Amino acid sequence: MKNEFDTPVTLEYATELLQSRVRRIDDSEKLPLRELSGRTLAGDVCALHDQPPFPRSPLDGYAVRAADTAGACRNDPITLRVIAEVDAGGTFEGAVGEGEAVRIMTGAPIPEDCDAVIGQEDTDYGESTVNVYISVAPYENYCRQGEDYRRGDILLPDRTHIGPVETGIIGSLGIAEADVYRKPRVLLMSTGDELVMPGSELTPGKIYDSNLFTFEAMLRDWGAEVVAATHSSDDPEDAVEKITRYAESVDLIITTGGVSVGKKDIMHDVFRIMDVERIFWKIAMKPGMAMLSGIREGKLYLALSGNPYAAFADMHLVVRQVICELTGDDHLQMIRGTAVLADSYKKSSPARRFVRAYVQDGVAHIEGHTGGNGDIASGIGINALLDIPGDSGELRPGDKVSILYL
Ligand code: AMP
Ligand code: MG
Repeated sequence: MKNEFDTPVTLEYATELLQSRVRRIDDSEKLPLRELSGRTLAGDVCALHDQPPFPRSPLDGYAVRAADTAGACRNDPITLRVIAEVDAGGTFEGAVGEGEAVRIMTGAPIPEDCDAVIGQEDTDYGESTVNVYISVAPYENYCRQGEDYRRGDILLPDRTHIGPVETGIIGSLGIAEADVYRKPRVLLMSTGDELVMPGSELTPGKIYDSNLFTFEAMLRDWGAEVVAATHSSDDPEDAVEKITRYAESVDLIITTGGVSVGKKDIMHDVFRIMDVERIFWKIAMKPGMAMLSGIREGKLYLALSGNPYAAFADMHLVVRQVICELTGDDHLQMIRGTAVLADSYKKSSPARRFVRAYVQDGVAHIEGHTGGNGDIASGIGINALLDIPGDSGELRPGDKVSILYL
């Protein structure tokens, strides 16, 4: 049954339509510091103290009063009296008078009366007195209190993606656990009578299911929780039953297979039976054109092609953006760039195309990666997709292309 939605929509419009229907995840959980990386921060994290908390030495050497070193040089050193030593973790509370210095180690607090540090390589390493060979200006080799961040600064705003750096920052504040949004929960389902699960015997006419595993790995990488990865036969009732079993407990339903126009393209029936409101069917691009999407009870249903590369492209170009919207954490946004083509690309088509590529130093290599939509091995080693506009005609080595990094 045809309707106005059968006209393919642009990729950008498809993404926009889906993002506008996403219900952003608002519930959070508390996790220990060591489990934060990869998660989305819930609530702002503010600095509770200055960092560093005290003026500190960036060098092993001698804390000095800069004025005392005026005119010092290798041929005419200035001698200072070494009155104490302060190591990292220690303190020196005493006064430092004119002509005096304090032996100091990297990370140690600079005594209050000192305003500079001379690296030990610019001295004679003296113990009770030291000859300094250079003069320093006030605040030379001096890390000021709060120069990294200041108490009260909003260091990490709500919905920041937490990686190793952010984890370290939270740790540096002395915070042992933080709130993060819960992971998006996803139901994955492959469809097709021809599919058998890895580990079982391959009988005539069958192939092993690979999409289910590609998708699950991607979703994990993208910070989602795959609540179930299941398979349905080409009987729509079977698919409905499997989806219904999990739909309540997930935010997103992703299926692969059965979205084209063949007799066994069951996802249209599944949408009808389950009363899923259709959002769009078909995106104006190759591969991944045959994608069906809908919404039911506030949850998106994304039905992708069964062809492995088509499904892979839809996962990156569309599903990834939906995950970003669910978490409000934009670290999954694909990064666009340009590259110069190393090889020629002969296929021309009226539709916009995405071609698997390996890009390095601004050069896009596609040789070995231009297999069909059903090919998996062409995807080995790729790190980008070329975004080739419709009607581009043949592309030659040296042509400039737009790319999206995976
Ligand atoms: P479909 O979209 O169901 O028409 O499937 C298109 C092609 O992809 C067919 O050759 C299927 O056998 C293949 N295919 C479908 N689902 C999968 C899957 N989960 N893993 C690998 N190949 C699949
Ligand atoms: Mg199928």
